[in-house]
Amino acid sequence: MTHMSSHRDNVKDVHSTFFGAKISRLRSRQKKILPYLYEYLSCLQIQTQVLIFEIRILPSVIFVIVECNNQFVCSLIMLCLQYSRASTVLSAGGIRQQFSLPENIHLSLASADFMRNINEHLGVLNEDPVDLQFNHSGYLFLASEGVAHIMEENYKTQRCVDAGAKVRLLSASQLKHKFPWINTDGVVLASYGLENEGWLDPWMLLNAFRRKALSMGVIQCHGEVTDFKYSIQVLRNADGEEVTLKSVKSVKVQMPNSLEYQPVECAIVVNAAGAFSGKLTEMLEVGVGYGINEIPLPVEPRKRFVFVVHCPDGPGLDSPFLIDYSGVYFRREGLGGNYICGASPEESKEPDVGDLEVDHQFFEENVWPSLASRVPAFEKLKVCSSWAGFYDYNTFDQNGIIGLHPNIRNMYLATGFSGHGLQHSPAVGRAVAELILNGKYQTLDLSAFSFRRIMKQEPVMERNIV
Ligand SMILES: Cc1cc2nc3c(=O)[nH]c(=O)nc-3n(C[C@H](O)[C@H](O)[C@H](O)COP(=O)(O)OP(=O)(O)OC[C@H]3O[C@@H](n4cnc5c(N)ncnc54)[C@H](O)[C@@H]3O)c2cc1C
Repeated sequence: MTHMSSHRDNVKDVHSTFFGAKISRLRSRQKKILPYLYEYLSCLQIQTQVLIFEIRILPSVIFVIVECNNQFVCSLIMLCLQYSRASTVLSAGGIRQQFSLPENIHLSLASADFMRNINEHLGVLNEDPVDLQFNHSGYLFLASEGVAHIMEENYKTQRCVDAGAKVRLLSASQLKHKFPWINTDGVVLASYGLENEGWLDPWMLLNAFRRKALSMGVIQCHGEVTDFKYSIQVLRNADGEEVTLKSVKSVKVQMPNSLEYQPVECAIVVNAAGAFSGKLTEMLEVGVGYGINEIPLPVEPRKRFVFVVHCPDGPGLDSPFLIDYSGVYFRREGLGGNYICGASPEESKEPDVGDLEVDHQFFEENVWPSLASRVPAFEKLKVCSSWAGFYDYNTFDQNGIIGLHPNIRNMYLATGFSGHGLQHSPAVGRAVAELILNGKYQTLDLSAFSFRRIMKQEPVMERNIV
């Protein structure tokens, strides 16, 4: 506690000298450009000391900053376009500890702990308790002969990390004994999560963060970031190479139902725009130029389909979140004989990302055959509905990119999670908040996920990408 309060004082000092003049200009600017926000701030008597633009729909970063910082109240603006485009609400809601990288396992374990105690973190006085609609059920990864050794290696990593992920390996006959409805042909080994795995309602998690952040004085505004105003500084590195450093000064926001652009000054930007975060950094002309300046943020939308099927004779209540070695997955959806399923397409056959239309042929050709071969009862399924969402796909190594952007002095990144971002959001939010408040990680060292690995061309490969 002593450490925390002395740290708070430091933060306060730094920010009051560094941002002091800026903040008063910013407040009068706010008054002109976003009058309703100013009124809101005034009536709540919130002191606007730092304005952070938060584009991420899961406001876990905001939540932690406000929580750690209650003496030093931040006014934060959270922007989002529309929930219908956010990956969070279109995800399968799965959480698992079965990753190959220790960092990802730690992120899952920390997030699971957060979710287990969700009401301690996100409960709001006089409001209903948060119910994530959590279904506890292990992920069941199946391995063929060619990849069984990788599963064994992953298992060792999962068991070895400090907190110890609770996973069990099953032979084909043990698998058949536990889940008699599975056809084990081709399966040599299976890995089953015993704890901290299952699925939840992503909307509930998102809304819980949102509600808590709002209750702590955060301002939410809906609008689209269409451009940035920034300053440029050109320096030389040790090799004599020119390095361009940019600092965001203000963000242009287009408000809904308006053709007007509102420039909003900010001190810190958190780029958590999911599948669109690469596009957002392009607005800062990052990824053009030469040397380290030409490296783009390698995050782009990749369309993924989710199909809801009805199958009264399917696996039933004791159904895990099954990931077949073909890449096809399914899990139970509710208690009425429904399941959701899908698969990632081959790299060369990625669907068009211009819309969120569902390709039903993809189900017929790429999902159903593997599904029915693994669970014969699924031969008689009926497709009830479907949707599509965008993975925030990191084309470099399919892992999160977290931390300060090396060329943009005040932009933090939290993006590129490529299909596992929902479950890691509480721990990633805390990590980014630590970086903003302390300049370093305090609870989990996520430096392996910094942008620097992209500059060094050293991918951090996660083997369990679904
Ligand atoms: C089909 C599918 C299944 C998935 N299943 C799982 C799963 O089981 N488990 C798991 O952990 N993860 C899963 N994921 C991945 C997970 O959904 C994402 O990694 C995570 O939701 C990313 O959260 P985010 O807040 O970073 O991005 P998002 O939720 O996409 O939020 C980004 C927000 O930024 C807004 N935005 C973008 N550009 C701008 C702009 N210029 N101005 C203003 N706002 C902007 C967007 O509108 C959006 O609201 C799945 C994803 C999909 C598509």
